[in-house]
Amino acid sequence: MTASKTVAFSRRSANVFLHVLTRCNLRCRHCYINPDQHGRQRLPLDRIERWLMVFAARSPGANLVLLGGEPTLHPDLPRVVHSARRLGFASITIDTNGYLFNDILDRVAPADVDVFSFSLDGATAATNDRIRGAGSYEACLNGIRRTRAKGFQTSLIYTVSRANLGELVEMAPLVEALGVGRFFIQVLGLRGKAAWTGCGPDDADILPVPPSEWLTQVPAAAEAIMRRGARVIYPKVFLAPEEKFECAGLVADNYFVFPNGRVYRCPLCEDYPVHSLQFRDDRLVEASRLNESDFFRLHIAEGCVMNALIQPGNIARDGDGPTEYRIACCLLKEEILPP
Ligand code: SF4
Ligand code: SF4
Repeated sequence: MTASKTVAFSRRSANVFLHVLTRCNLRCRHCYINPDQHGRQRLPLDRIERWLMVFAARSPGANLVLLGGEPTLHPDLPRVVHSARRLGFASITIDTNGYLFNDILDRVAPADVDVFSFSLDGATAATNDRIRGAGSYEACLNGIRRTRAKGFQTSLIYTVSRANLGELVEMAPLVEALGVGRFFIQVLGLRGKAAWTGCGPDDADILPVPPSEWLTQVPAAAEAIMRRGARVIYPKVFLAPEEKFECAGLVADNYFVFPNGRVYRCPLCEDYPVHSLQFRDDRLVEASRLNESDFFRLHIAEGCVMNALIQPGNIARDGDGPTEYRIACCLLKEEILPP
């Protein structure tokens, strides 16, 4: 078995995740966007550019991820990309569900966008479309092929739930056939629809997988995908007793930015008005306390404090005794590289 490497939080590089809008053409059953908290807004171009200037000054050379909603629904996305390049962002990624609206592939070049990152949640149309909606599998595969044909780098994001864990290993030949360079495995989030447990009466399988299944199946599937030529990155999720716990909110430089001006340091907090920063009149200022930054400092035996607060059922206990494992920071990743 190939050894995986835990990717420590970088204290040198910053990451800006900018939701240019929260609207989307799909209605995925596990969608992480919470309209009650973040609305259905689209940021105007001039405001996006002012906010990008703030981050370029605060964290020079940050990596920029443009997302939504579906970011290609934003008609000014190419101009956002060109502005970000001029401002010196180290890398620019566009997250997409594959529909690639507004002729985005004709309006940006591979020199502008480092990676188009596609979301797919099954190796078959039956499984993916049950989660993400009819036709979304074909749209995503077509999108990847068109993007590759234009000379762009591509990656895939696969969000693991009970509904699709069994097909994760089957992604290996598909990743190779599509020529995808990076494969991200995500754990089903504790935010958005997935956090409203089950999403609906017939959605009981859209739930996180238990630790025993995660630990036995995900690393093995990651290895199989890596052997087909992709760099594979997956969340650590559980910490062994000897492994050190760190909260990215304290040691990393990440910003999760929403059109309503909220800026979070931790994605698990996005369902609540506990953002630590806020855009006011296009200036980035501290939000009122209490907020997420107060939680980051709480040291608890279970590991991640937000997991313990939001979904205490995720922490396995033996009676009143110690926890069986600690929950790692959701931003801590394992990485395996092809030989
Ligand atoms: S998960 Fe992404 S693609 Fe799916 S509905 Fe939500 S924003 Fe759209
Ligand atoms: S997921 Fe947990 S450990 Fe990571 S930044 Fe959020 S609160 Fe901190």
